[in-house]
Amino acid sequence: MPHNSIAPALLFSNFPLAEELLKAVEKIGFERPTPVQQQAIPPALEAKDLLVSAETGSGKTAAFLLPTLQHLLSRHTTLFGTRALILSPTRELAQQTFNQCRALAEFTELKVGLVTGGEDFKQQQGALRRNAEIIVATPGRLLELIQQDAADFSHLQVLVLDEADRMLDMGFSEDVLNIAEHCNKQRQTLLFSATLTHYGVIKMADKVLKNHKTVALNTLHDGHNNIQQQIVLADDNDHKQKLLAWLLLNDRYDKALIFTNTRLRANELQAPLQAQNLRVGVLHGDMEQRERNRIMALFRDGIVNILVSTDLAARGLDVKGVNLVINFDVPRNGIDYIHRIGRTGRADEQGLAVALVKSTEWNLMAGIQRFLKQKFERRTIKEQEGNYKGPKKLKSSGKAAGSKLKREPKKVAAEKVKIRDRDKKNIGKRRAPSNPSELKPSNGQDE
Ligand code: AMP
Repeated sequence: MPHNSIAPALLFSNFPLAEELLKAVEKIGFERPTPVQQQAIPPALEAKDLLVSAETGSGKTAAFLLPTLQHLLSRHTTLFGTRALILSPTRELAQQTFNQCRALAEFTELKVGLVTGGEDFKQQQGALRRNAEIIVATPGRLLELIQQDAADFSHLQVLVLDEADRMLDMGFSEDVLNIAEHCNKQRQTLLFSATLTHYGVIKMADKVLKNHKTVALNTLHDGHNNIQQQIVLADDNDHKQKLLAWLLLNDRYDKALIFTNTRLRANELQAPLQAQNLRVGVLHGDMEQRERNRIMALFRDGIVNILVSTDLAARGLDVKGVNLVINFDVPRNGIDYIHRIGRTGRADEQGLAVALVKSTEWNLMAGIQRFLKQKFERRTIKEQEGNYKGPKKLKSSGKAAGSKLKREPKKVAAEKVKIRDRDKKNIGKRRAPSNPSELKPSNGQDE
């Protein structure tokens, strides 16, 4: 094969890493960065907060250890206290991370400490006091030590939450947030999770990350998922309204969140749903703060159990009992999608996310599935079945084949030619505007 047909493979030496770290990488025997290392190391080195989906076995440990070690090497400090904290769900994982951290730090002066349950408490107090720059810990034991004032994270530079989904599964959510509260607010935070479509991960990300970048690398066969994701095809917005009402009247849920892309649409949905005797509130950025607080309180207390919201209004929303999310409009990108569906799901149950998708949104939805490396279940609602059945042919990307080349309906094209010819004749003369409805495609879509 000719040389120039092979894309140059990235090497660890392409990253701006200290010589001591590159030497350790070589000694350990890592030759080339894995995909998660390629995608996560550069933004982490720029001190950005990251939300990363990557599984065990992907090389995620080195993906957060290398930039963390680099950060500590390049920013000297004389301040006392731990400089990097890595939280792991289990003792075994903490031990492995500790081992890898020591191996990567071998040629540096940095000291690494391990704080896990089951080990000698006094000895661990000592490890914290002896001021190891890096601590690898499980949340329960660390919190005990914090409560005894044995730990100081007021000058912490990097906080890593590894396998955040497992920490949530194990009931560590409160402990992790509590520990994060004790950490320096100016720190960099890296949150790793096997999946981003897992209950609580997004809510945790909202609380601990600042202006973060998302790196999504999870796989299709993602056993961790406890948010079921479905697509229901729709002909147009009127059809979507019928589907929405059907879902809200027939599916089982405690509380439901409906997302729209615009404030206008959020407002428009309220009356038709109320007409079906559904208890609905609306939340969007145009509303006064006092009104927003009032609606949120009604939703929290369950006085309204359905909330229609735009993305901005729902950021940071953490209400118990939301187990149905409906995307009335398909969100504009994968990250907004994750943030929307991340409002559902609880430790002990499955959340359901349904997207209503019309033909013009098919490719956007396909792009979101590709971004998440997941394929959503297609659901048909017999009682409200429409005509749109999806594209006839699909590209390997999942997008509609030939959609860009789609011809205008004959009538519309002929009408355009007629208007163009008339305009040519009338150059310089004023003319009455043509009726725009004549030019509208006849599929009833309004966007
Ligand atoms: P992790 O996903 O961090 O648990 O890593 C899984 C395994 O891959 C561990 O045994 C690592 O030592 C190994 N590993 C991590 N990065 C690389 C790399 N760039 N090349 C080869 N092996 C690696």
